[in-house]
Amino acid sequence: MNIDADRLREARVMVVGCGALGNEVLKNLVLLGVEHVVVVDFDVVEQGNLTRSVLFRCSDVGKPKVGVVKDALKEINANVDVTTIFGDIAYDVGLALVRQMDVIMGCVDSRWARYCIQRLCTRVGKTWIDGGIIGMEGTMRVFVPKVNCYACSLGTEGMDELRRRVPCAGVIRQTEAAGHAPTTSVAASVIGAWQVAEALKVIAGVEVEKRMCYYDGDNLNVQKAVFEAWDDDCALHEEWTPIEPAKECSLAWLLGLGVVVLDDAFVDYVVNRETGERTEVMLPAHRVADFVKRHTQLSIVPMPKLYQHEYMEVDSSFPYPMLSLEELGIPAHDIVKIKTSTGYRYVEL
Ligand SMILES: [Zn+2]
Repeated sequence: MNIDADRLREARVMVVGCGALGNEVLKNLVLLGVEHVVVVDFDVVEQGNLTRSVLFRCSDVGKPKVGVVKDALKEINANVDVTTIFGDIAYDVGLALVRQMDVIMGCVDSRWARYCIQRLCTRVGKTWIDGGIIGMEGTMRVFVPKVNCYACSLGTEGMDELRRRVPCAGVIRQTEAAGHAPTTSVAASVIGAWQVAEALKVIAGVEVEKRMCYYDGDNLNVQKAVFEAWDDDCALHEEWTPIEPAKECSLAWLLGLGVVVLDDAFVDYVVNRETGERTEVMLPAHRVADFVKRHTQLSIVPMPKLYQHEYMEVDSSFPYPMLSLEELGIPAHDIVKIKTSTGYRYVEL
């Protein structure tokens, strides 16, 4: 396969997760001549990352990973343009940004994060490449729209498990303890290289590997397995089209079009079910657990005793029309889904 150097320079790649795998993927992309990358991660560099992450140094401990990889990549190629998002793929990445990408690289270690990447990619018809590593083993899968879907690959049992972890309405959720699988630089190197090899094909517009690729470093075993996961009933298969530009980036303007459908509920207050005491919150639901922890009076109340009042949809009767879109939990460069009397509209901010 021959890829034009200009095509590589112009390509836009989003890398979600800047751990061992994300480091390898970013290193390979930049060495190959990719000059536009977006990196997403909510962690800081820890001592334990240094043994498996090629772009981190001892002096980086305590710094956000996205900033560290940006500096390191610029040392490899000063022309590389790195957009950093110090946040969570579930809530902090605008869909319009995903839409600008040629390909999205999943270098994450949780089902929820993979589910969120799939959700974003399906909405704007993008291919994403998933890598997963544990010890000396790893897998690589390419999710192409209308061919393979991460949510479909989970099956009923997997989706049930995911739903149990996914925040459900009316209950204050506890932040999922990040389950860090033990990783090695060896598996990260192999799987990260495979991911980037497939990314090159997506950028070049040629056929990608549609089988699941498995690496077992302990026995030097490499396998490819047929991997087809596309179920027409999957709730995630919702392509957002056509997308129209917003004339104004404000809640008032959006409400003029119809009802704003939120991905993450907006919580205005919580109530202690025992005492009836009400506390104003005014945050997206995923930030409520932290809010509760910070408030001494609330933090002593067991979670099931707290009721949270929330909005999944915002219409013209919403009592807080003065809120900014950011305060409502809508990230910059997002695409907003609007329910109208005749269907849905998709508006790019
Ligand atoms: Zn699906």
